[in-house]
Amino acid sequence: MNIQTKPQASKSARLLDGKVSLVTGSTSGIGLGIARALAEAGSAVVLNGFGEAADIAAAQAAIETDFGVKVSYSAADMTRPDEIASMIAALQGNLDIVVNNAGIQHVAPIDQFPVEKWNAILAINLSSAFHTIRAALPGMRARGYGRIINIASAHGLVGSPFKAAYVAAKHGIVGLTKVVALETAEDGITCNAICPGYVYTPLVEAQIEGQAKAHNIPREQVIREVLLAQQPNKRFATVEELGALTVFLASDAAVSITGAALPVDGGWTAH
Ligand code: NAD
Repeated sequence: MNIQTKPQASKSARLLDGKVSLVTGSTSGIGLGIARALAEAGSAVVLNGFGEAADIAAAQAAIETDFGVKVSYSAADMTRPDEIASMIAALQGNLDIVVNNAGIQHVAPIDQFPVEKWNAILAINLSSAFHTIRAALPGMRARGYGRIINIASAHGLVGSPFKAAYVAAKHGIVGLTKVVALETAEDGITCNAICPGYVYTPLVEAQIEGQAKAHNIPREQVIREVLLAQQPNKRFATVEELGALTVFLASDAAVSITGAALPVDGGWTAH
């Protein structure tokens, strides 16, 4: 039997030392958490997303100080294929890990769903990943290494009412993940989707406060009976948990995991 062994890495080496990662939509929430986790594992990071210039500069500086890696920022709008192409061209083929995370939501019955919201959600939550992947693949293939991690959702695996565009886009990105995995399987590249249930972010905190006030019920009741109604373990996933899974998927240990859609949903999609 041909069993390959590798010498043990020195203790100070980090899992992703020398790698370069791009995380779309990383100026807040899950993307920022994932960017921090990749940096902690030693990867240089390109941040992307909207926000106040001062807040973005502060997030950039904090990652550099905390983890001693190079951090840059691209303001590319994920609805714009030309801006996505320029962002990736600027990295000149030196891009090892792409995390397609940028996303938005809109909730409305399908017959009242605004067409512009449908188009925006499909563009940001699905088409942007097609554009980043097609631009990043030649460089990854040239170097025989690449990790593409798409942040889908439990809504990439099951539906919910009033979320037509979001559910369609997230199912679409799970399908895109499988196709990319098949096309790159012999190239040292993997492509996987992470499918979170509810994750605790500032956005969710605002929803808890809003619902508690609107219904005049305690926040614990809002969390358990409204937000986490579908999530059997009755707890939010954290951005740190998603960061840790992303780092694992980017590591050598995950080289045989490709084309998967991994639920991080406390049992939601086990129903
Ligand atoms: P968030 O609103 O905190 O972050 C979204 C990020 O995307 C921000 O950095 C924002 O600036 C960026 N963005 C939005 N439009 C953009 C555009 N046109 N171009 C570039 N960047 C843009 O949201 P989040 O909760 O951290 O969600 C991140 C991802 O995780 C999304 O794809 C979302 O669907 C997915 N997700 C979130 C949850 C949850 O419970 N929070 C659950 C499942 C999946």
